[in-house]
Amino acid sequence: MTNRDRIDRLRKNKDLPDEDFLALLEPLPEEDLAFLRTSALEVCRETFGRTVYLRGLIEFSSFCKNDCLYCGLRRSNTRADRIRLDLPGILACCARGYGLGLRTFVLQSGEDPFFTDERLCTILSAVKEAYPDCALTLSVGERSHESYAAFKRVGADRYLLRHETADLTHYGALHPAEMSGSARQDCLFDLKALGYQVGCGMMVGSPYQEKGHLLSDLRFMQRLGPHMIGIGPFLPHRDTPFADRKSGSLDETLKLLALLRLMFPRVLLPATTALGTLDLMGREKGLLSGANVVMPNLTPAGIREKYLLYDGKIGVEDQAEKCCRDLKQRLEKAGFEVSVCRGDAPDWSAKEIK
Ligand code: SAH
Ligand code: SF4
Repeated sequence: MTNRDRIDRLRKNKDLPDEDFLALLEPLPEEDLAFLRTSALEVCRETFGRTVYLRGLIEFSSFCKNDCLYCGLRRSNTRADRIRLDLPGILACCARGYGLGLRTFVLQSGEDPFFTDERLCTILSAVKEAYPDCALTLSVGERSHESYAAFKRVGADRYLLRHETADLTHYGALHPAEMSGSARQDCLFDLKALGYQVGCGMMVGSPYQEKGHLLSDLRFMQRLGPHMIGIGPFLPHRDTPFADRKSGSLDETLKLLALLRLMFPRVLLPATTALGTLDLMGREKGLLSGANVVMPNLTPAGIREKYLLYDGKIGVEDQAEKCCRDLKQRLEKAGFEVSVCRGDAPDWSAKEIK
């Protein structure tokens, strides 16, 4: 079977036998990658038209108790500046985002013990009360079932928790021994059962990653059935043990985005900041490979440059208004229609809430 046959078959069946996925996970000739990306764009357009959804990202704390080997916010990085936003600071970000037309806010942070369940619930309630027409997405790492349930009760709608790699041995090579890939996967199933719209995902080209690990990622996602999938290239950070590792590649990331679009036609798939950092036109290229979400940064200058997961992060000196305006212009120029509605997952409805 040729790669084109495999791509057509994936488009039709949304699945392939392992050996065909593994063939597509090999570096592809240019014309096969182009065919894959075009197929993914067509499938995306069948479901979402030219619409790209915007989410306002608020990075509210750069403190983290974890020590993921790849991340600039890891606790062992004593050179990182740590800072957190208080409630008025978070509400000010939302106000700016709301003024720009954004109707989803993503509250993301390191795993910061300062933000107890009680403090986070206070924040979520306040944001939800001020902006009842907006969707609230949390991305604050691993917590207990009770914590996730409490956040849900006060208004969290969605949760992003990348599984990072579904292969547990590979997970062990990227994290200290006290962290567990299976505990992280359990959190995702838990979040889904609680009625969240759930996002998982992995870095592409992370240290020690093999094709077989990516295949495990695809199989894991089939089991989970996520509403959102966040993937981006691994990018090194100078003050981590992976400082000298090479970045994930643009083509491999675009390929994975396209494969995911063919497997999950209705999933919400961001073209991430990391992709935009790897390549100046990375986000546009992602959208032309089947992605359909972009997350402009609402974090105020002064905080944003302290939230550095990797080196070279784009837009650290931009104001939210500029960031959002530039993005909209660029996306429209590339032929997309920017939507600022809540943009819930098409398969999600309130009746899923248990
Ligand atoms: N602390 C939370 C949320 C913030 S980190 C959590 O870990 O879930 C968000 C994501 O950034 C991580 O899931 C990881 O996939 C990504 N990330 C961290 N370091 C990175 C790096 N060096 N290159 C690319 N992505 C990175
Ligand atoms: Fe902390 Fe998340 Fe970075 Fe891990 S990836 S060190 S949990 S901020």
